[in-house]
Amino acid sequence: MSTQELVSFVVPIYNEEDNVVLLYNELAEVSEQAKLNSEFVFVDDGSSDLTVSRLREACVNDPRVKIVVLRRNFGQTAAMSAGFDHATGEIVVTMDGDLQNDPHEAPKMIEKLKEGYDIVAGWRKDRQDKVLSRIIPSKIANSIISKATKVELHDYGCSLKVFRAEVVKNINLYGEMHRFIPAVAAQLGVKICEMPVNHRARQFGVSKYGISRTFRVILDLLTVKFLLGFSTRPLHLFGGLGIASGLLGSLLLVYLAFERLVLSIPLSNRPILMLGVMLVLIGLQFICSGLIAEVLVRTYHESQGKKIYFVRSIIQSSNKNPNDSSSALPDNKNRESDKLYRVI
Ligand code: UDP
Ligand code: MG
Repeated sequence: MSTQELVSFVVPIYNEEDNVVLLYNELAEVSEQAKLNSEFVFVDDGSSDLTVSRLREACVNDPRVKIVVLRRNFGQTAAMSAGFDHATGEIVVTMDGDLQNDPHEAPKMIEKLKEGYDIVAGWRKDRQDKVLSRIIPSKIANSIISKATKVELHDYGCSLKVFRAEVVKNINLYGEMHRFIPAVAAQLGVKICEMPVNHRARQFGVSKYGISRTFRVILDLLTVKFLLGFSTRPLHLFGGLGIASGLLGSLLLVYLAFERLVLSIPLSNRPILMLGVMLVLIGLQFICSGLIAEVLVRTYHESQGKKIYFVRSIIQSSNKNPNDSSSALPDNKNRESDKLYRVI
């Protein structure tokens, strides 16, 4: 099994002292049962209880375990991002550290991924959480997110997801955005599938979130929607709004000028004049914002070497000159399956 791809389990944990050891044991058991070649990356997100010491004690002799201890509480998304940075596997599995996600679901999700997907997202079909504060807001949020991003998933919020490592390594996360990885990744052209998974009620510790998270998620959706649609062409959005507003204002002003100059109707008591002027000014503002955004977008992409495209593979003939056999690849690279084409 040593040639098997390495699976990195990435688990953000914040004050889960009664859950971590049970989780570690469960993960180790599942890994052994499914004969996975795995590593466990636990990210402690500034816990103030015994989470780290208990975890360290439990897995002190296990070389598969990496505990990344953050300096303070940065939030689940940041913790996950730290986990991705420290994961070395070709496959990355994310899950919560509160035992609500069932690790036993991971092997069949990994199998699914190997069928040719880049992301396999868990769907808590039978979710064990409070109906009013969790299940209903989440249903509404999921349908809004699905419609807005055009990536239809039943359960964006389920942390149990399996990724090809290159997907998570190519996405920068901010705010509460870990849940939007499938939507952002879809833009990069990845293949996503959703799988119903078992979900368990929280037994130990308390949830770290209240209802306010729903609003933050919706605000993040706005950012994601804007970045997905217009991050390389902001003027198309701002300019469109600007032209619409400017045109409407100009029409109003032309009409008012006609009334004033031709029909001699006085303008002094016409509030609509104000509206016309404002629409023109707002239109100009929008266009200027769009131009500034265009400049920012260039800095954003070019300063980080970000590409505006994402390559899946490059297919190229291994023989540059068909008559020249000496230009073939060296023996070790010239495998049977690569005779004609080489995938870089
Ligand atoms: N978590 C974290 N940092 C935070 C809040 C939460 O790492 O600031 C972790 C938490 O320990 C758990 C996971 O994120 O492993 C999900 O949190 P929680 O169970 O509170 O969320 P819920 O299931 O209620 O949505
Ligand atoms: Mg939970």
